[in-house]
Amino acid sequence: PRLFVEKPLAVGTVLPLERAQANYLINVLRRGEDDPVLVFNGRDGEWHASLVATGRKDGELRLVKQTRPQHPAADLHYLFAPLKSARLDYLAQKAVEMGAGTIRPVLTRFTQGDRINMDRLKANTIEAAEQCGILAIPELAPPLRLAEALTTLDPGRLLVFCDEDAPISDPVRALSEAADPARRPPLAVLVGPEGGFSEEERVAVRARPNTVALSLGPRILRADTAAVAVLALVQAVLGDGR
Ligand code: SAM
Repeated sequence: PRLFVEKPLAVGTVLPLERAQANYLINVLRRGEDDPVLVFNGRDGEWHASLVATGRKDGELRLVKQTRPQHPAADLHYLFAPLKSARLDYLAQKAVEMGAGTIRPVLTRFTQGDRINMDRLKANTIEAAEQCGILAIPELAPPLRLAEALTTLDPGRLLVFCDEDAPISDPVRALSEAADPARRPPLAVLVGPEGGFSEEERVAVRARPNTVALSLGPRILRADTAAVAVLALVQAVLGDGR
């Protein structure tokens, strides 16, 4: 198992486990003395720790050695218009697994979904990071209206705009023409809400320089399907494979 902890990590550090973590390791995973547990904090790399059970639901981790040095976060920004909360968790989780380094909800004219529970999204990104083996916890940026969110992207960043109205073409060619894969350009992807983008939003996004409107094929994908599809495509064609 891999655990994210918010404490400095060094040889010999002893980390008392929270009860839920101790219960998970000792009683759910039935790990015992000296069973290896991997620990990371998003800054100091990944460490091999040995589990010391100090009770049925109490224990601590003793750091033994660093297994991987710290790795910078992926430089991929993922902008998405929120969906209903259950799908929001899914979106955050998939964005982490698919290599997003920065995740930002954007508010659009047809954004559904109630208040965005950022604490819950944060917990989902940490859990996804534990599961998928990355070392840096993606940044969860505060929600912004679409126009404002676009201004947070540096001009050199290629924005891949998932637009079901874009001409259906070969997405690999479209991406490779928009940016030289060898240059590994900084990237961002934008996926709309269930209700889609308004016409004026579509025009505004397309007007941004260094933006490619990309069709993901002839079918209308659910926003969360489109998210995984475009992230997989971007990683395959332009990603740095981190
Ligand atoms: N306009 C859609 C409709 O008519 O039902 C609603 C939007 S769709 C459910 C949600 C988002 O997924 C879109 O805003 C777009 O970003 C993305 N998307 C869905 N299908 C797509 C496709 N074929 N190509 C590119 N993006 C797509």
